[in-house]
Amino acid sequence: MTDMPMGPFRDVTHGATQVPDDHYASRMGAFTGVDYFDMDSLLTDEERLVRDTVRAFVDSEVMPIIEQANREGRFPRELLPGLAELGVLGANLTGYGLPGLGAVACGLVMQELERGDSALRSFVSVQGALTMYAIHRFGSDEQKERWLPPLGRGEAIGCFGLTEPDFGSNPGGMLTRATRDGEDWIVSGTKRWITSGSIADVAVVWARVDEGIGGFLVERGTPGFTATDMPGKWSLRASVTSELYLADVRLPDSARLPLAEGLKSPLACLTQARYGISWGVIGAAMACYDTALQYATTRVQFDRPIAGYQLVQAKLAEMVTGITTSQLLALQLGRLKDRGEMRPQQVSMAKRHNVAHALWTARTARDVLGANGVVDEYPVFRHMANLESVITYEGTHDIHTLILGHDVTGLAAYSG
Ligand code: FAD
Repeated sequence: MTDMPMGPFRDVTHGATQVPDDHYASRMGAFTGVDYFDMDSLLTDEERLVRDTVRAFVDSEVMPIIEQANREGRFPRELLPGLAELGVLGANLTGYGLPGLGAVACGLVMQELERGDSALRSFVSVQGALTMYAIHRFGSDEQKERWLPPLGRGEAIGCFGLTEPDFGSNPGGMLTRATRDGEDWIVSGTKRWITSGSIADVAVVWARVDEGIGGFLVERGTPGFTATDMPGKWSLRASVTSELYLADVRLPDSARLPLAEGLKSPLACLTQARYGISWGVIGAAMACYDTALQYATTRVQFDRPIAGYQLVQAKLAEMVTGITTSQLLALQLGRLKDRGEMRPQQVSMAKRHNVAHALWTARTARDVLGANGVVDEYPVFRHMANLESVITYEGTHDIHTLILGHDVTGLAAYSG
């Protein structure tokens, strides 16, 4: 723990328009991780190295700029070359110059990125687990050659368009349609809440076709295809969220993902992204717990540090217990994934549990910080606001409850 004083109202710069470069460094000790159950001993040397490398990148490159980017509602695109150099874009994929990292190493990457900000992890999830995975698994050789190398090098950006204004939890009802016109396809519809939509060079768009649901690669600049940013977000402010409009967009047959077949194809991509989220949110929870612990040990009320009061200790004990259970759940999920034995329902359990706990931790850390919890002097409110999106996207908390309920009872309770 730090010996840096973190007293309240110390050097507070309310109303300042610029966040100083040494923002957290001046208030927080260096982050050393949260490892109550010696999880390090369960990791390989390579996994620890990957984690520590990304942790150092987040400390040196992300922390100095993230609060300002969040204030400005701006995706920090300047981080892209560094992320690409680290090899975190499509990190689990093989071939095409991609790293082919194991599942646990990839999870640890997500954990460290999300300790910085959920927006950064969301960008990486959408780029790798949704866009690149969709092309890697369902694409033609030509599509893979064309897109995977530049997406992996961060020279191209991808997005994944599944959700529509009227179909979120129930994407199978989608209205976006692709119809044949000679050798071509004509695609029409609207996709909403699409991460990286307006900055993407290629969009994976899911549309209704005669046989069910198909996937298409729509390139930026294609006539009839536009993307606009969605204003007014109080969450994931350092991430671009867009609406995609497809007005009779003509695509050659070579734009269709040839191996995608029905709703199970986008759902397979979501399983990959949800796996990363299960790990990522542990990073956000760690950041909030670490901040609350440091704050509580130095904040004095009624002549004692507030960490000495039982009610505050109960909150800290619950936080570290939840982080530990989340770590162990994610780790075993990763080992199952590497053995090819991971079930989507297990991913639902980990996503549901770990996000809910991370959000509770962020909300509780905000409370422990008192009034200081509502300013961006400290990262907890930002994490809390971000996690409000994370608990909704990639299957809401309650949808994952229904998936688990279905799995253990054999009875589906999604409708009627
Ligand atoms: P709804 O489906 O309308 O749900 C509203 C509420 O009803 C929830 O509480 C839900 O749990 C509940 N509910 C729904 N059905 C049931 C039921 N059967 N039983 C009980 N309760 C139910 N989508 C993409 O395709 N690509 C992206 O890149 C992407 N990025 C996103 C980024 C952000 C910041 C956000 C906020 C969303 C993003 N999404 C993206 C969309 C996201 O996946 C959807 O918001 C999510 O699936 C929920 O859909 P919805 O918002 O329409 O809520």
